[in-house]
Amino acid sequence: MKAFTYERADSLAQAATGSTKPGAKIIAGGTNLLDLMKLQVETPTHLVDINRLPLDKIDETPEGGLRIGAMVRNSDLAADLRVRQRYGLLSRALLSGASAQLRNKATTGGNLLQRTRCTYFYDVTKPCNKREPGSGCAALEGFNRMHAILGASDQCIAVNPSDMAVALRALDAQVETVDAENTTRAIPIAQFYRLPGDTPQVETTLRRGEIITAVTIPPPPTGKQIYRKVRDRASYAFALVSVAAIVDAAGGKIRSARLAFGGLAPEPWRVASAEERLVGAPATEGTFATLASDVLAGARGFGRNDFKIPLTRRTLRAVMTEASLT
Ligand code: SF4
Repeated sequence: MKAFTYERADSLAQAATGSTKPGAKIIAGGTNLLDLMKLQVETPTHLVDINRLPLDKIDETPEGGLRIGAMVRNSDLAADLRVRQRYGLLSRALLSGASAQLRNKATTGGNLLQRTRCTYFYDVTKPCNKREPGSGCAALEGFNRMHAILGASDQCIAVNPSDMAVALRALDAQVETVDAENTTRAIPIAQFYRLPGDTPQVETTLRRGEIITAVTIPPPPTGKQIYRKVRDRASYAFALVSVAAIVDAAGGKIRSARLAFGGLAPEPWRVASAEERLVGAPATEGTFATLASDVLAGARGFGRNDFKIPLTRRTLRAVMTEASLT
């Protein structure tokens, strides 16, 4: 690990200003950043610790939703009674991620900003456009079993590793931020992540010096909530494919559906036209097959991850069957 200076922020303004210093990084739970620093994938020269900022509350919003502070730990968010009762898929997504020890430290804001788990990104001896722009992508011809089948580019095929973000995408969350000039923004989660294109090192639409303060979720939509994650072992493993679903079905017909996918793309994946086509459709095998084709439009495997295409079809079918049962 390389030497760095350290600053504990007592205010948001101090944190935002500190984060604009050259080579500065914000540290919250540190569950991803410290690993990256030990491997010298990240080499910040200055760390701004925001653990003492009062961002650890979950509040009701006037609209009937929840405002989740950026420093709320993943364990606390998953265990909150309001989350468990009204946003079950968010609680289940959180509990399916990492380990209990990591969830006790990991924060809401940090979870959104965690980096990909692509093996080559963590191996500084290998080419990686995300870590070192222009160096190449070792995963294209390498061990790409965990990699993207949607939204990738020829520069990077890494997936976003967050479970929480997949649930938040289905819930239409907004990410609240503030910068050193005290300018605030509410970014719809649909616009928070960027696809890799030619700049895979740029992963979000956050601006320099902009700090996440909270995540707001609207009132829970009508329908059954499901989070299903398929992975190599029962715990402490990233998704091969995951589905966050909120489906309102009755009398053998689907009234509405929201479906977000993890493990498939560089961002939580959602296809609005596929959801619109479901409205009023019968809850049948044929409908589910068409839905899967709509979601997987343009999907492309890179060899070792080809299996994700049929796996997504089967997982989606299982989720929709469960969601349609009354
Ligand atoms: Fe790097 Fe992305 Fe290629 Fe992985 S997939 S080696 S993160 S450029």
